[in-house]
Amino acid sequence: MIIVRYGEIGIKGGKRREFERKLRDNILAALRRKGIEGKARIVRGRILVEAPDEAAEIIAKVPGVVSVSPAREMLYEEVPAYLKEALKGHSPESFKVETQRLDKTFLKTSVEVNREIGAFIVENFGWKVRLKNPELVVGIEIISGRAYVFFEKIRGVGGLPVGTQGKVVVLLSGGIDSPVAAFLMLKRGAEITALHFDQGLNARSVVEKTVDILNDYSPKDIELIVENHFEVLKPYVSVLSRLGLQEWTCVLCKVAMLRRAAEIAREEKALGIVTGDSLGQVASQTLANLYFETMSVRFPIHRPLLGMDKEEIVAIAKRIGTYQAFLEYPYCDCPFRPDRVVTSGKVEQFQRILDVLEREGVI
Ligand code: ATP
Ligand code: MG
Repeated sequence: MIIVRYGEIGIKGGKRREFERKLRDNILAALRRKGIEGKARIVRGRILVEAPDEAAEIIAKVPGVVSVSPAREMLYEEVPAYLKEALKGHSPESFKVETQRLDKTFLKTSVEVNREIGAFIVENFGWKVRLKNPELVVGIEIISGRAYVFFEKIRGVGGLPVGTQGKVVVLLSGGIDSPVAAFLMLKRGAEITALHFDQGLNARSVVEKTVDILNDYSPKDIELIVENHFEVLKPYVSVLSRLGLQEWTCVLCKVAMLRRAAEIAREEKALGIVTGDSLGQVASQTLANLYFETMSVRFPIHRPLLGMDKEEIVAIAKRIGTYQAFLEYPYCDCPFRPDRVVTSGKVEQFQRILDVLEREGVI
């Protein structure tokens, strides 16, 4: 039995039921993907999942889950006998009992349960009670007249259940940033389709691996669309070289990707495009260049990492597991990258480029 706690959805008023059901379905889907057939019940602010203890780690990755505890279900009267067995062989330096009564019709208060069970443990094991930072926490939750006992609370990713917020198309490279952007959107409940522009640098296998890691946070397999980057970029590059404005290549490269992403997003009925841009990180991510990139696409673009430092992004990438895939990324310089890259170009010049691209049917 696994107790699943969720936070934010508890406060969503009328939407609450729908959110709980979605979360339950997503948990069962995550387990099924790993070959576990579980059962789940929604009860008073908790989801109780019947599955083996190993399922806890899988459930902790489901967006919307705040924490999980592998637990044993019993009558309250059976708790002492259970603990006598379960705590055998343990010898913590200190402990405490932490009770939560989700069922207010239960006759004892949480404090009474803490005292009663705490006294039982002291009597039988002689351990010291410490309320602040004890080595062992004996958790008890009273739900619908039953007691659930556990010793571990695994932190979940939090956020909202995937599928409650519509869909986005995520531009996924083989780098560190965009997988984190994708994760953050999943975490906030958006469904994602990944779009990768293949530059023939073997990044594709890294991207496939990344998608596989991200699948742990998604109720269904994430669709990966791969496009040939050179084909998309070629007409832009040839116009720029004719105009002698190669320094705009990186900006136009992003424009090319975003415009193609917008087409796909419309087909996929997605409501936004997501990138891993972080302000000022590289030349194409200055505020001026983000302005040009955004202005040339009539579609909402979301940049969940915009205000994050590289260290913060790397920390998340390591935590969610996508950093490890990146380490296999075969770094290779982009063959189109010019010697000089605009970082604060003139609007008029950019408009001129767009006009030529439009006249020649590129955009
Ligand atoms: P990342 O670490 O995500 O690759 P980056 O720091 O390398 O980002 P850029 O190369 O400027 O930065 O890319 C900015 C964003 O553009 C990326 O986060 C990603 O969303 C998108 N992008 C870049 N290259 C590709 C690609 N080959 N396919 C799909 N999207 C890409
Ligand atoms: Mg990159």
